[in-house]
Amino acid sequence: MADIQELYRLLKELEDQLATCMKCGMCQAVCPLYAETGRETDVARGKIALLEFLASQMLRDPEGVKDRLDKCLLCGSCAANCPSGVKVLDIFLKARAIITSYQGLSRTKKIIFRGMLARPGFFNKLLSLAARFQGIFTKQASQTLGSSCARFKIPLLGNRHFVPLAQTPWHRLTPSLNTAPGSGKFKVAFFPGCLTDKIFPSLAKTAVKVFNHHQIGIFMPEGQACCGIPALASGDKETFIKLVTQNIALFSKQSFDYLVTPCATCTSTIKKVWPMMPEYFSRETNEAIEKLAGVTLDINAFLVDCLGIDPGQSEKTPGKPVTYHDPCHLKKSLGVSEQPRQLIRSNSNYTLKEMNEPDRCCGMGGSFNLMHYDISQRIGTRKLRDIIDAEAKTVATGCPACMLQIIDLLSQEGRDIEVKHVLEIYAETLD
Ligand code: SF4
Ligand code: SF4
Repeated sequence: MADIQELYRLLKELEDQLATCMKCGMCQAVCPLYAETGRETDVARGKIALLEFLASQMLRDPEGVKDRLDKCLLCGSCAANCPSGVKVLDIFLKARAIITSYQGLSRTKKIIFRGMLARPGFFNKLLSLAARFQGIFTKQASQTLGSSCARFKIPLLGNRHFVPLAQTPWHRLTPSLNTAPGSGKFKVAFFPGCLTDKIFPSLAKTAVKVFNHHQIGIFMPEGQACCGIPALASGDKETFIKLVTQNIALFSKQSFDYLVTPCATCTSTIKKVWPMMPEYFSRETNEAIEKLAGVTLDINAFLVDCLGIDPGQSEKTPGKPVTYHDPCHLKKSLGVSEQPRQLIRSNSNYTLKEMNEPDRCCGMGGSFNLMHYDISQRIGTRKLRDIIDAEAKTVATGCPACMLQIIDLLSQEGRDIEVKHVLEIYAETLD
């Protein structure tokens, strides 16, 4: 448990940020959670009102405060539409850390975050073991989507349709890389992220193929840790600090032009969330974080903005219809929305058909999906309808977490619409 003085300091700091909210309620109209529950306590304004009395509420009902704060996708829709520029995610993440310091971390989360996630080597071994035996408990659900579901009733899996763990994760296929740039002149540090590494290793392979095609040098150090957002979103700042420090040490070993990831959430975490928490780190680490955040780019943005990939203006015959879902962490957090569309248009075998509200949250929200699967699915149903109505054969996106949610939604509905990362669509042009 945190000492009282430290807790008081953190609460004071939060108070200053809370004062910027003028309670206008503009966040209500865009909150995907509010659209489902209709509860004011679920929207940013309601949570901020709760936090204004955090000190007294924590003493009265810490569990209730935590539950209300945890019920949030951290999608950033509210922040992106707030006229006062309230740093909503900053506030929510800091408040969760304060409550966790006061209450302590649950035993399960301690095991998951401190026992597993904070120890990348052990975590990798554990998941490799799980990958070997997962077939006993699961069966294939859709061949097109590559999804599975539980063979029998397993509370943890419920009726989820999920993509199984890869038999050979990316870090075993290619433990490390350090290549010099060719005519492409740039050297990138490559951060695949946990979902790419363990569930979609072919996406990492595609990224390397694209870098090699453009003669980009690659630095991919061995032993990369999670970006830390699952731990921080649960208020576990101890694990977050550990993971960020491990990654900073690895990526400080080599100079490069950009750090590139194919995961919208990892990009947004490294670029926006790491520098949001300077009080957690030493001056040296903060300098390294700022430097790294300044050169971190989503892979779509790297290809279009740095390499100048352009679909051109030529008329073409219609290709296979593909629709695009804007991940919240890509569009709302980083402002990247045109670049993925450019990459899709660069493949003449496809024709982009926009869905209704392409930037509406898919309902994934990382651990929100684990804790509130029913609401996550209800939010996702709207996305599912928009995808189906677009009459596309493929849905593309830029975040492996969104891919998992969309695959679940489509697979449960029995729809044979393939789900791809934009990078895969672009890479097909290089074959
Ligand atoms: S968070 Fe922003 S949009 Fe929401 S009530 Fe406060 S000022 Fe208005
Ligand atoms: S981050 Fe998303 S879910 Fe959370 S309050 Fe804001 S809009 Fe609602």
